[in-house]
Amino acid sequence: MATSQVTRYNNYIGGQWVEAGTGRTYSIYNPASKDTVLGEFQTSGVEDALKAVDAAQEALAGWAGTPAPIRAGVLFRAIEILRQRGDDIARTITLEEGKPLSDAQGEVKRAMNIMEYAAGEGRRMFGYTTPSELPDTVAYTVRRPLGVVAIITPWNFPIAIPAWKIAPALICGNTIVFKPASATPWSAVKLMEVFEEAGLPPGVMNMVTGPGASVGNALVESPLVKGISFTGSTEIGTGIYAQGAGLLKKVQCEMGGKNAVILLADADLDKALGGIIQGAFGSTGQRCTATSRVIVEEPIYDQFMEELIDRTSKLKIGDGLDPEVDVSPLASKSQFDIVMEYIGMGTEEGADLVYGGNSVTGGIYDQGYYIEPTIFTGVGLDMRIAQEEIFGPVLTVFKANDLQDAIQISNSVKFGLSSSVYTKDLTQAFEYINTVEAGMVHVNAPTLGGEVHLPFGGLKSSGVGHREQGTEAVAFFSEVITVYIDHAASARERARFI
Ligand code: NDP
Repeated sequence: MATSQVTRYNNYIGGQWVEAGTGRTYSIYNPASKDTVLGEFQTSGVEDALKAVDAAQEALAGWAGTPAPIRAGVLFRAIEILRQRGDDIARTITLEEGKPLSDAQGEVKRAMNIMEYAAGEGRRMFGYTTPSELPDTVAYTVRRPLGVVAIITPWNFPIAIPAWKIAPALICGNTIVFKPASATPWSAVKLMEVFEEAGLPPGVMNMVTGPGASVGNALVESPLVKGISFTGSTEIGTGIYAQGAGLLKKVQCEMGGKNAVILLADADLDKALGGIIQGAFGSTGQRCTATSRVIVEEPIYDQFMEELIDRTSKLKIGDGLDPEVDVSPLASKSQFDIVMEYIGMGTEEGADLVYGGNSVTGGIYDQGYYIEPTIFTGVGLDMRIAQEEIFGPVLTVFKANDLQDAIQISNSVKFGLSSSVYTKDLTQAFEYINTVEAGMVHVNAPTLGGEVHLPFGGLKSSGVGHREQGTEAVAFFSEVITVYIDHAASARERARFI
């Protein structure tokens, strides 16, 4: 596509769409049509990030002083705008990230649900009152915003993840600098436009595109930024958490996963297969909650493998805009390379490649980053494909003697985001619930997803800091202030502790 036809998008700072001070831009391409430029975006630098922080700081007093139910009005308007533009925004997600259009539509719906829940918090955001140990004294708690918060997000849910951070941050009275993933700035611009049109005052939310190492890092380091909400890789999140802690900031990091399904011999096999295939290959395995391991109880292993391969072979691979497609392209060349490298590594490590393993080529496939759904068996627990997050359509299958053995395999990784068991036995289900190391636990359902009014997040290397969504999000994006009011008519002796 000729450069002259490409739309250039700016940063949003202090209520204005502005170019980066660096004078540089970069282009993004459609992963299903890799020569098609989708847009040109600002390659911002540290100065741009700091300008956005200043704008957010300037807007803070006004927004923090706006009653929460009035702040909620902006979110309700944003929901309406998202509803009107849902189809266009879903298409943008598919063009930019590659996921099937139905997944993108689901993502937009999820963002709307999150905003609805957060807007409702504008009329709750409970503190509590409690009896004081002194007479004529009232003791209660209130919530106050943190101040300016940085929102740093990954590319795989370019609307829903920003929304589930931005909406609670706004309702709690914080002002925001939003740094989207460099791979998905187009969706971010569209989300920013929604909030602008919903009537957010200038400076309350700012958006700066550009490299994490400079723009993101400047936000983490800025003394004016009091809270950091990050979702992304464990490697980057660990660094941000350490940096933020050193500066005494409130930090939440949602990171990688290596999620396992445990399949017990008594399970409904048909139901389990549906959930496993959706979890492993839906959204091309590029979900933090994707199923990347299945641990199967020995008596049903052979039957399971036969049906797994049969059903996987029927999945349709193609452009996410095609409504018939089950498995769309990887989101980028770098993601494609990483996944192909892991597939090669699995074979070299001695695992058995029993299905897929190739890039898909010829015809439309030459235009995109397509990889076959891939299945490994005979995987050793010490292999890298057993331990590391691959973030692609690659499933590793393990055999277990019984539930205890399966839980041990499930817990043998450093991650602990999501997990699932398929069984009809309540005793086994509860043993699993009580011992599996994961922040989100499913019974007879895929490892995917979650509802917006319930906490979302992981244990171990998958998450640190507060959970996201539900009331936990309000807990993260606010400080609790304790208030004591002495309304006694005259002076009195006070207790002499702390
Ligand atoms: P990255 O960690 O590479 O990037 C995440 C964000 O951090 C991007 O905006 C990135 O910017 C930015 N960043 C990079 N370096 C720095 C830095 N030094 N300081 C501040 N910010 C920085 O993750 P991906 O975008 O590749 O996303 C995929 C990962 O996200 C997977 O590991 C996946 O599991 C995880 N994830 C976790 C979820 C959860 O809830 N647990 C949900 C969804 C995804 P830039 O793009 O410019 O590099």
